[in-house]
Amino acid sequence: MGGMVSAIYLSIGSNGVGPDGAAPARMTQRAMEKILAMEGAGEIGRGRLYHTEPQGKTDQPWFVNSALALRMQIEPIRLLHRLQDIEKELGRTPGERWGPRVIDIDIIFIDDVVMTTEELTIPHPLASQRRFVLAPLADIDPGLAHPVSGKTVAELLAALPADAQPIRLIDPSTETP
Ligand code: ADP
Ligand code: MG
Repeated sequence: MGGMVSAIYLSIGSNGVGPDGAAPARMTQRAMEKILAMEGAGEIGRGRLYHTEPQGKTDQPWFVNSALALRMQIEPIRLLHRLQDIEKELGRTPGERWGPRVIDIDIIFIDDVVMTTEELTIPHPLASQRRFVLAPLADIDPGLAHPVSGKTVAELLAALPADAQPIRLIDPSTETP
């Protein structure tokens, strides 16, 4: 099965400036460029950029979040490690899990893969409950189905409580990153 090309859906977020002072929106776009520059990667689509309220630890800046879909032939665990390398290249340092982070790249779906290891859970376990994950994925494909529930990202978005997890679309004409 080594020759199978997968459809990979990623969530990308940032709420800290890069090592060169680059703003979170720019860090998110840099991450997209680096991911698509991986050997053998082909773009399927990109979500729009959103400002999103931090979840969990709320006393930190709003995030910029987006999503990226690509085709690539790669084992899931190798993909995780490549994405972690890209996070480091972009300036992420250890200990940023709960506070502001320069960049976070999470694997949401890989085809219909369902797997749990100590290092990697696919689909991402919180994907269905996070507006900041679902909204940019719906930009790429609202009919994309969660492999376990069978619900589409549009259905999952519609199921979230309306006033929970505010997000705001970034207007590229007035907010150039
Ligand atoms: P966060 O959970 O906020 O994304 P980190 O980026 O620090 O925090 O990730 C913590 C760990 O989550 C990683 O070391 C990785 O092994 C694990 N992990 C499990 N499943 C996934 C996934 N689907 N995508 C990315 N990381 C994952
Ligand atoms: Mg992560």
